[in-house]
Parts: sequence; C-alpha cells; structure tokens
Amino acid sequence: MNYYVLFGPPGAGKGTFAKLLVEHKGYYHISTGDLLRKEIAAGTPLGLEAKSLIEKGNLVPDEVVCGMIRSEFGANAGVRGFLLDGFPRTVAQAEALDKILADMGAELTRVVSIYITDDEVRRRIKGRAAVENRADDADDEIITTRIRNYHEKTEPVINYYKAQGKYFEVVADGTIEQNYKKVEVLID
Ligand code: AMP
Repeated sequence: MNYYVLFGPPGAGKGTFAKLLVEHKGYYHISTGDLLRKEIAAGTPLGLEAKSLIEKGNLVPDEVVCGMIRSEFGANAGVRGFLLDGFPRTVAQAEALDKILADMGAELTRVVSIYITDDEVRRRIKGRAAVENRADDADDEIITTRIRNYHEKTEPVINYYKAQGKYFEVVADGTIEQNYKKVEVLID
C-alpha cells in the first residue's frame, strides 16, 4: 500500500493534481480541507468549531485533522493507496501521521511537494475564489494569514521529511499538464 503526501502552499494545485492522480492511478484522495468543508455544510459540532478558524485563515487543531485521517484510513482499507492533500500542515501532524501509519504496520511512501511563490499563491487563490465560492479565498487579509501560517507552521514540515529522505519537490512553473507530468513521475 502506498501513502503519498501532496505538499505545498494554498493554491499550489494539490487538489487538481490529486484528482488527476485518482483518474490515472486509482489512488484514494483525502483532502482535510474538503472533509472540514463537508462538516461545516452538515452543521456538525466539529464543523461549527472549524468554521470560525477556517474563515479567519487559521489552522484547525491537530487532534481534529489527525482523527479525520485515522478514520479515513480505517474506512477505505481496500484501496490501492492514499493521496493526502493539505495534511500534514504542522510538524506535530507529521509526527502523528508516522504514528498512525506505524500502528497499521505501514509507512509513508514519499512526499511530493509543489513549489510556487507567494505572489503566485495570491494570484491563484484569487482566481479560484470565483470558481469554488470559498470565503477564505476571497479576502486579501485572510489570504495573508494563510500564507503566514504556511511559512510559520507548515514549511517546517519540509525539514522533517528531508531528514527521512522522503521529500521530493516539483517547481510548478509550467502549464497544468506540464506540472502534472512532473508530479506523476515522482509518484511513479
Ligand atoms: P484547504 O482546502 O486545504 O486549503 O484547507 C482549507 C482550510 O481548512 C485551511 O485554511 C485550514 O483552516 C483548514 N485545514 C485544512 N487542512 C488542515 C490541516 N491539516 N490542519 C489544520 N487545518 C487544516
């Protein structure tokens, strides 16, 4: 069983590449952002807790997303492999993921990181706001908070995986098709 992390700042294209990898490779896609948005839409207590944090551009607590990941693995045991999109976003989450996988007798296969500049993050998120109708994509201040959280809390995850020899990076400076090909090579 393969377990991949698709890593990168908001707007890097993690979700787009995950969907293409599902089509081409038959892996199972887990997006913690999508799962949280479903909880919000369903009005669950977890969704209510997450909503105010997401709307400000802040991260939800590590325990919440780690619990989601654990139950998604449990509920989809028969698949070919997993693509984690938007998780882990902190070193504590990366450590928890190693523990969750070890408990299942598994380990992470590799991390495929998609690099774009902060200016490009802003440009892409704003382009996506109109299409996906996400409040956290539409506001400059919220985008700034998300970029800051990415640098402060998520970027340190890169060194965690480099130390394990599992970190591979793609510079996403081409078309979607060109960038996807680079991602696919690393997954293969
Ligand atoms: P995304 O769809 O991945 O951009 O996630 C949207 C929002 O959901 C993020 O800005 C966070 O507020 C929250 N979120 C998603 N995944 C995580 C995670 N792994 N840890 C903490 N918060 C998360």
